[in-house]
Amino acid sequence: MEQHEPIITAAEEMNAGTPGNHVLEAKDAAIPGEREDQLVIRRAYRNLLKSIKTPLDKPDREAIRAAFELAADSHHQQRRKTGEPYIMHPIEVARICVEEIGLGPTAVVCALLHDVVEDTDVTLKDIHDRFGARVSLIVDGLTKLDGLHDSESPQAENLSKVLRAMVSDVRVVLIKMADRLHNLRTIKGMPHHKQLKIAAETTTIYAPLAHRLGLYKIKSEFQDLCLKVTHPEEYHEIADKLSQTKRAREQYIREFTAPIKEALDEMGMRFRIAGRPKSIYSIRNKIKHKHVSFEDIYDLFAVRIIVDVPPEEERLACWQVYTFVTDFYKPIPERLKDWITSPKANGYESLHTTVIGPEGRFVEVQIRSERMDDIAERGFAAHWKYKGVKGLSKLKKDVFENWLNQVRETLENNDTGSAVEFLADFQSNLFAEEVHVFTPKGEMKILPEGATALDFAFSIHSDIGCACQSVKINNKLERLDYVLKSGDQVEVITKKTQKPKEDWLQFVVTGKAKNRIRSALREEKRSQAEYGREILERKLNAYKVSVEDNADMLARWYGYPNRLEFLSAIFLEQVDLSDLKRFRSDGTRLIEIEDKIIRQETEPVVPDSPPRIKSGNKPEVIINGEPGSYYQYSFATCCNPVQGDAIFGFILAQGGVKIHRATCPNATHLLANYEHRILKAGWGNTVKADFLTNIVVTGIDSGPGVIHQLTDKISSLGINIRSFSISGESGYFEGRIGLIVSNTDQLNLAMKALKSFDWVSNVTREE
Ligand code: MN
Repeated sequence: MEQHEPIITAAEEMNAGTPGNHVLEAKDAAIPGEREDQLVIRRAYRNLLKSIKTPLDKPDREAIRAAFELAADSHHQQRRKTGEPYIMHPIEVARICVEEIGLGPTAVVCALLHDVVEDTDVTLKDIHDRFGARVSLIVDGLTKLDGLHDSESPQAENLSKVLRAMVSDVRVVLIKMADRLHNLRTIKGMPHHKQLKIAAETTTIYAPLAHRLGLYKIKSEFQDLCLKVTHPEEYHEIADKLSQTKRAREQYIREFTAPIKEALDEMGMRFRIAGRPKSIYSIRNKIKHKHVSFEDIYDLFAVRIIVDVPPEEERLACWQVYTFVTDFYKPIPERLKDWITSPKANGYESLHTTVIGPEGRFVEVQIRSERMDDIAERGFAAHWKYKGVKGLSKLKKDVFENWLNQVRETLENNDTGSAVEFLADFQSNLFAEEVHVFTPKGEMKILPEGATALDFAFSIHSDIGCACQSVKINNKLERLDYVLKSGDQVEVITKKTQKPKEDWLQFVVTGKAKNRIRSALREEKRSQAEYGREILERKLNAYKVSVEDNADMLARWYGYPNRLEFLSAIFLEQVDLSDLKRFRSDGTRLIEIEDKIIRQETEPVVPDSPPRIKSGNKPEVIINGEPGSYYQYSFATCCNPVQGDAIFGFILAQGGVKIHRATCPNATHLLANYEHRILKAGWGNTVKADFLTNIVVTGIDSGPGVIHQLTDKISSLGINIRSFSISGESGYFEGRIGLIVSNTDQLNLAMKALKSFDWVSNVTREE
């Protein structure tokens, strides 16, 4: 058995020697004000130790003291904007971690050290050597990234760093919250414009994050403190009115709760009752959005009844209390909220009701157990305490793990993306409220608000998502981008040959779905590139050079961002390999022949007449305000623009301009990578021209008449069909129809006509 040190209480530790005193007194003792500083610092440190209620063992005690000394020493010359010695900040952050979030000794050590690496000469390696791997991992997560000045959003990148660290240790984000809270509480010393910036950052990132972590108290304080910065008059007006009405309110609460107390006492229930005013921020919101005055707000406060019972009895006890409350006061049924049966996604559990109290005033009553209260106040931080507790349903225990997994997926998902994209992903995904939907077997799934039917398919299994062909919502066929509503029953219909599509990325919101679609698309691109490589190899044989030595150069020459994109484009026949004649070989590599020589040797480049235009005139395209013919334009075969589509021009490396649809799947990458080669384009005078375009029709296979009905409908509009193919499985069909139309009006007419069949679920243009 390991020999344990006798347990020393915080008070004894206090007397055991003045911690850090040699550090503080040995230096610059003569500087005026130094003594006062030391007194203040020592008092703060003692308060911190006192706040730790659980007994500390020797290593913890020593680590805390060492962290304090190192921090005090290295921040020695620094002062905060408020004038206090800098060390007061880490000490306070540590105290908030203990007292307001409920964290333990390791967090205290990390909180004390959280600004040391960022602001002083101490390195992460020093921390690692003196305090070990865990502490250095957490401190690293709390240290802002350096040199982000030219980054598009340092804020987003720092947040992404904190979250990455959070996935390996949740304490990182909790200490970050304490740090932000203390900075806000002491914001007065800052210049006003900085205050506004901090308030904005807190409102957009930290308050929602606190909400998501279930740190309700901290969230409310964030909101109140931000309001104080942004709208000081309104803040103070409400604060004053709250304090003026305090006595009357307390009197009312006493009167309201008296009969309930009596009844609960009588039945021997262990409980406590608290009556609290709502936050200033939420009162202001009511005044603003409901256009009422302070005096007219009926639920300025909530009465909270907290029962002290074992976990397996808490549910019953809460409903018992509810019965008592509603025996005395008439409830308003639509205001009953049962977050005990289905807790909020951030773990919040409580039973809320609003009743009509004395004098006809509405009173919100919140009923919960001590455990639920702990989670309601400290969310994430309290959650770990109850992890192994029996008598709790799996769902309740899993909410935070689910969330952490979502964070993890969002992070993994964004390995290649920008920080700003990440922040957007994060906000749409992880701050969002949730919807509860059901499988056909009645199993509940929780998805973020805004999630689509396709997200649901991926949430069941990534294979189901990838093969998702159509969906039925409440037994009705809907599009894959249908936005789920709570209570929806969702049935996924899969098809073996289905493959994830690029445009799916436009409407899925969950990290999991995005991630799987992206990797499936990459996979597909890789196999296309394999074929593309073989095609290129055959061409290059004539030059006796290898793909390996020349693919990167050719990719650049053709305007592709990398070899993979280039090779897969070859497979998709988007690359005109006849341009290879502009090259000669030096034995290993291709070398471009001077442009001048080419022009002399070859015929002048004739704008290739799009093969899709069967007859009629060439439609007029205006490029950069000039007739398109100046530019030798042609139409891109990847997206088949039709007269009337929004279009743009892309300057080809080999000369000429390709006209793409603005919604072309290649457009995003062209726009992002070759902005300088993009030209504004539009349609000129309307001429009668024929465009070939493909549409895809999906729906329920209602029998052998399907093909006839579709083709008849199109023909009745006077539109010619050039090709038709159809495939079907388990009652569903997918048809691909090649149409010859003269403009988008005609095309839209055809698509609308097909949609009017009730057995057709979706009609889209082929991408
Ligand atoms: Mn700090």
